[in-house]
Amino acid sequence: WEKMAGIGDEERILVSVRVRPLNSIEISRNDPVDWECINNTSIIHRNGISDRTLPLSTYSYDRVFGQECTTRQVYEDAAKGVVLSVINGINSSIFAYGQTSSGKTYTMTGITEYSVSDIYDYIEKHEEREFVMKFSAIEIYNEAVRDLLSSDPSPLRLLDDPERGTIVDKLTEETLRDREHLKELLSVCEAQRQIGETSLNEMSSRSHQILRLTIESTARQFFGGENFSSLAASVNFVDLAGSERASQALSAGTRLKEGCHINRSLLTLGTVIRKLSKGRNGHIPYRDSKLTRILQSSLGGNGRTAIICTMSPARSHIEQSRNTLLFATCAK
Ligand code: ADP
Ligand code: MG
Repeated sequence: WEKMAGIGDEERILVSVRVRPLNSIEISRNDPVDWECINNTSIIHRNGISDRTLPLSTYSYDRVFGQECTTRQVYEDAAKGVVLSVINGINSSIFAYGQTSSGKTYTMTGITEYSVSDIYDYIEKHEEREFVMKFSAIEIYNEAVRDLLSSDPSPLRLLDDPERGTIVDKLTEETLRDREHLKELLSVCEAQRQIGETSLNEMSSRSHQILRLTIESTARQFFGGENFSSLAASVNFVDLAGSERASQALSAGTRLKEGCHINRSLLTLGTVIRKLSKGRNGHIPYRDSKLTRILQSSLGGNGRTAIICTMSPARSHIEQSRNTLLFATCAK
């Protein structure tokens, strides 16, 4: 990471791939594993050919995590630097992208937990500054934005604030008392996501969830330091809708309103990230979707971004896994 975080690299989008272990369904139907992580930056697809000297395709990213890697390792190598830049006043976003059941929520949940713990550790060690942490959480479903800390399911509007950029109107923002308080709020979000839904899995495959931590800090006067300045920035933990929604819509055209909208946020994110990875000049279509509008200040400007693309190693998911790697390649 040190090397990756070196001078000049701050503008890059950090792109990683994580392969989960086979799940019990895949094991029970003897689904073969065709993907192999050959080192910590490359993954190959062997196309079922057992001759190990003939890898047909090699894909390289900033980091690749094989099925034996823990979420702690993923966090340390693919997210931590981006997350902790929030303490220095830099907005950031961590995304999990991949098909449903590939491990997005599993990965993001762990990363959020480790991040919060590291941020609190930092704050406790730096008494020369006073920190205030705020938390908010939204879900974007059908291009409607919903407050996950409120029991009111009505959609919230986006407003353009001349100073703060796009803001979600009337969004609940809780000032955190301590680590335990945040844990409570995370379980509130979890419960809100389930209300009124027949199938949580169906819901989570169609919606984007954004957890946002905002950190404000000011130098404490009594420490006598020269730096009285204040800093404020947010880090966003984004668990995206299943990426199969994007490819389905591309092939089937406009069908349901829902399919169409989900793709709008996911497809616009893809376009925005592709353009950003080619340089930050020219028109970037943030305004084309709710997701990219809300995240604009962490994607553009001096914001930092890490994308963790999750995939199954099973042959039966080859098409979606290739789509995911294609997205990852375009984001580099
Ligand atoms: P998604 O959010 O992409 O739909 P989940 O994160 O819910 O997928 O993962 C699907 C299932 O696989 C869950 O039961 C989860 O616990 C498990 N899983 C995902 N990634 C891993 C992993 N790296 N190691 C072990 N189990 C995993
Ligand atoms: Mg999920």
